[in-house]
Amino acid sequence: MTTSAVIPSSPTVSFEFFPTKTEEGAAKLLATAQKLTAANPEFFSVTYGAGGSTRDRTRNSVYNIRETTSVPTAPHLSCVGDSKEDIRTLLTRYQQDGIQRIVALRGDLPSGMGRFNSGDLQYANELVEFIRSETGDHFHIEVAAYPEVHPQAHSMEVDLQNFERKVKAGASSAITQYFFNADSYFYFIERCRGLGIEIPILPGIMPITNFTKLARFSDGCGAELPRWIRKQLEAYGDDSASIRQFGEEVITRLCERLLTGGAPGLHFYTLNQAEPSLKIWNNLYP
Ligand code: FAD
Repeated sequence: MTTSAVIPSSPTVSFEFFPTKTEEGAAKLLATAQKLTAANPEFFSVTYGAGGSTRDRTRNSVYNIRETTSVPTAPHLSCVGDSKEDIRTLLTRYQQDGIQRIVALRGDLPSGMGRFNSGDLQYANELVEFIRSETGDHFHIEVAAYPEVHPQAHSMEVDLQNFERKVKAGASSAITQYFFNADSYFYFIERCRGLGIEIPILPGIMPITNFTKLARFSDGCGAELPRWIRKQLEAYGDDSASIRQFGEEVITRLCERLLTGGAPGLHFYTLNQAEPSLKIWNNLYP
C-alpha cells in the first residue's frame, strides 16, 4: 500500500509492550523489540499491573529490552493499590539504574480486587507530584490522555481539568488512549492548547488484528469502535488475513491523517507483536 498525502519526515515513534509470564514469552518479546528497532524508535515502554502485580516482571522486561536493543525503555508505574514506600523504592532503583523516562498512571484495580484503592495516592496527578517531589527533574514523565473521554469521567470538561492537573503536577508529555476517529484527537489538542497546555501529546495507535479481542478491549477502556469498522470486521468472520489487511489499511490512513494534521509522532500498542505496527510504519515511511 502507498500513501498519497505529504506527511512530515521525522515524527517520533514508540512502541508499548506488556511483561510476559514465561521464559518463552520473554524471548519472543525480545525478538519483537529487536525487529521494531528497524523503525528507529524514540523509546519502548512496558506496562505495569495495577497493585504491583507485575512489579518484578515489568522491571526485568525493561532492563532486558534496553540491554538487547539499546533503545531507551520506560517502565509504566501505576499508583492504585501501591504504598508510597513501594513507589519510592521502585523510583530509587530506576533512578540508580539509569532509567530516564516513566509512564505514570493511576491504573485500574484488577477485577476481583473491588473498587477501593488501598494505595496512598488516589489519582495520577498525585503520582506525578510524588515522583517530582522524590526525584526532581530526573525523569521524563509521560501521562495518559483521553480524546474520547475517560470512561469514569463525569464529563469532557471535568476530564480535561483532571488532565490539566497532571500537566501542572509536572508531566513532560502524554500518550493518548487509542481511538479510531482522528477528529476526537484534533479536538482534544485544540481544547488543551486553549487551556495553555503545550506538552507533546502522542496519539496511541492500536493496530487491528483480531475483532473479538479488539471489541472487548474497546468496550473496557472507552474507545469507540466505529460502526463501519465493526461491521466490516464482523463480516470477515474467521478470515484473519482479510481482517489484518483491512486493519492495516484503516490504521495506516488514520496515522496519515494524524501526522499530516500535526501529531508529533505515534505510539503503538503492539500487544507484543512486531509485524502489525511495523507494516503500518513502513506504509507511512517506505
Ligand atoms: P487519572 O488521570 O487519575 O484519571 C482517572 C479518572 O479519574 C478519570 O476519569 C479522571 O477524570 C479522574 N480524575 C483524575 N484526577 C482526579 C482528581 N484529582 N480528582 C477527581 N477525579 C480525578 N493501566 C495499568 O494498569 N497499567 C499500565 O501500564 C497502563 N498503561 C497505560 C498507558 C496509556 C498510554 C494509557 C492511555 C492507559 C494505560 N493504562 C494502564 C490504563 C489506565 O491506568 C486507566 O485508563 C485508568 O483508568 C486511568 O489511569 P490514568 O492515569 O489516566 O488516571
